[in-house]
Amino acid sequence: MSPKNLEVKSETKESLRIGVFGGTFNPLHVGHIQCVRMVKTRLGIDRIHVVPAAQNPRKPRTEGPKDEDRLEMCRVGFASDADYVTVDDRELTRGGLSYTVTTLESFAKEYDPSQLHLIIGMDQFEELDRWHRIDRIFELASVIVVSRPGHVIPYSIADFPEGLRPLLADFEKGFGQLTSGRHIEFLRMPDADVSASDLRKRLRTGRSVEKYMTIEVEEFIKSRGLYGPIGPRIGDFETFTRFCAEALYAKKGLNVRGFDLRPTTAPTEFSLVASGTSTRHTSSLAESVLTAVKEEFNVFPQSVEGMAEGRWVLLDYGSLIVHVFYDFVRQEYRLEELWKESRDLGIKDPLA
Ligand code: ATP
Repeated sequence: MSPKNLEVKSETKESLRIGVFGGTFNPLHVGHIQCVRMVKTRLGIDRIHVVPAAQNPRKPRTEGPKDEDRLEMCRVGFASDADYVTVDDRELTRGGLSYTVTTLESFAKEYDPSQLHLIIGMDQFEELDRWHRIDRIFELASVIVVSRPGHVIPYSIADFPEGLRPLLADFEKGFGQLTSGRHIEFLRMPDADVSASDLRKRLRTGRSVEKYMTIEVEEFIKSRGLYGPIGPRIGDFETFTRFCAEALYAKKGLNVRGFDLRPTTAPTEFSLVASGTSTRHTSSLAESVLTAVKEEFNVFPQSVEGMAEGRWVLLDYGSLIVHVFYDFVRQEYRLEELWKESRDLGIKDPLA
């Protein structure tokens, strides 16, 4: 057998250490690329599948390019890593909600299941106990958690999310043994202080993104005209603000108030604030705005924050920011006081 053949033998599918790195990649940024490169060089993972999600089950849908464009953006971003990175379209082809457990089951059929590693960032680790069938995920793969600015790597089992603790047999110095027989390890990497949500805002408002994405990805985005401002599809933002207010009143939102902030130095033009009677009511009010806007304008917000907790949900539609509060929390922040110099739109409950 020639040395070349030997080399091929040592790289059979069975012996490869496989990494699975999922995400929305909306857009792909340097944090993602650094994460993949660090896992490859520091942990000796042979092949990494970058898997863009059709729809993350834990994130509300936001504005972004169509699936094929996100896939292509990943190919462009990882072109120079193509010897060990596969940009993998299985979740896009499957469609619907992209459950990691289903994705890992499919990888387990293709590769030696004992060699599968799921790669996630620290922000995802903090909510890992809420992932669908996390116990099964821990059977299917070991987990590599990469550091992310603003999130602290756990020191002991007590720092793990509560629901994960029973699934952990032991944890010391950033390395944990799972009761499933797999392991979880934490990898510290240089801070990449970047998030896709922030980049979407930068791109839409024409601010510089060069520190946060590769030139190739930036050029790709420009050449396809992705992440243009959503304004043209919305038209007049005052009318749009009133439209969102109606959606809130229709679901029994309390004390809905709208403001034209243009006379102030606020970074947006309009704001809308409303309250719900419970955290659940608050999230469902925000959902009703999302649905109404999607139906009427075919637009998703640029970012959504706080939906899972339902204390203060923020929907960013560019020139309009919608704040839906659990009423109790609204009293704490008193946002309206910040907007004293603005023009009150005098929004009234259409049914009152
Ligand atoms: P968003 O801001 O919209 O929530 P994101 O920047 O977190 O998006 P995703 O596509 O959701 O991007 O992330 C895919 C994976 O990459 C996740 O596991 C996430 O934790 C990880 N990740 C994203 N950004 C970073 C970063 N700056 N440092 C380390 N890991 C990151």
